[in-house]
Amino acid sequence: MFATRFAPSPTGRLHRGHAFSALTAWMAARAAGGRFVLRIEDIDPTRCRPEFEVGILEDLDWLGLGWEAPVRRQSDHLADYAAVVEALAARGLLYRCFRTRKEILDAIGDAPHGPVEAARPGPHPAEEEARLSAEGRAFAWRLSLDRAREALGREAWDGLSFFEEGQGPNGETGRIRARPETAGDVVLARKDAGTAYHLAATHDDALQGISHVIRGQDLFEATHVQRLIQALMGWPEPVYRHHRLLTGPDGRRYAKRDRSVTLAELRESGMTAEALKVELGF
Ligand code: GLU
Repeated sequence: MFATRFAPSPTGRLHRGHAFSALTAWMAARAAGGRFVLRIEDIDPTRCRPEFEVGILEDLDWLGLGWEAPVRRQSDHLADYAAVVEALAARGLLYRCFRTRKEILDAIGDAPHGPVEAARPGPHPAEEEARLSAEGRAFAWRLSLDRAREALGREAWDGLSFFEEGQGPNGETGRIRARPETAGDVVLARKDAGTAYHLAATHDDALQGISHVIRGQDLFEATHVQRLIQALMGWPEPVYRHHRLLTGPDGRRYAKRDRSVTLAELRESGMTAEALKVELGF
């Protein structure tokens, strides 16, 4: 059965870009006579706030969307994600990373991949790891691309791909080879949360029977990593539909950090949901 989801993180109020994304997914579910799932991705303890979650529900309700109950709130299910981390660690696919972002950045310097997200810091030497563990230092679990490649085997690794029904940022469409190596050895369990976005989102897409992941092109790179996690865990492969990112009158994309006008502000200024839908092209 067709099932898709909208999976916001309650780190701020929703703006037009979120409305576009939620409506795109909701309309697709309606057209297919399928399920629409709302999921609250609130595993980041430093940025997520309950009042933003309340705001999300209010905004989606205002837009006229309906979703399945109960809504899954990721912070209520940390044990589920911990079990996956444990299983992957037991298979030797993860390594402990005690380094800080700054230490990794300093170490990679001018490395070709530059950003810390693409880092592959590698396991600590055994003695150092034992010492850091003994000191009780916090660590993140990173997925080792080398070990993942070994575990999957050459053929499965080379065949790792996904079907894009929408378009990637460079017009990619159809069957696409997954390149998890672009993201490096991603963190699957943060120091402070015991899990991380890629793991929790992929776990929940499988658990909730999501057949179609519909989301913005800003998450296209994430799909490459998430396909690898699915392959390692034997989870089903959804179809992907990345949609264009909405840009404002200045041609820049709407994003929380740009302090875009929120849906709550639009509503307070007297805008109706109908008018917003027309403006967004629905
Ligand atoms: N929670 C993510 C975000 O707010 C989206 C996750 C997803 O659609 O996979 O950007």
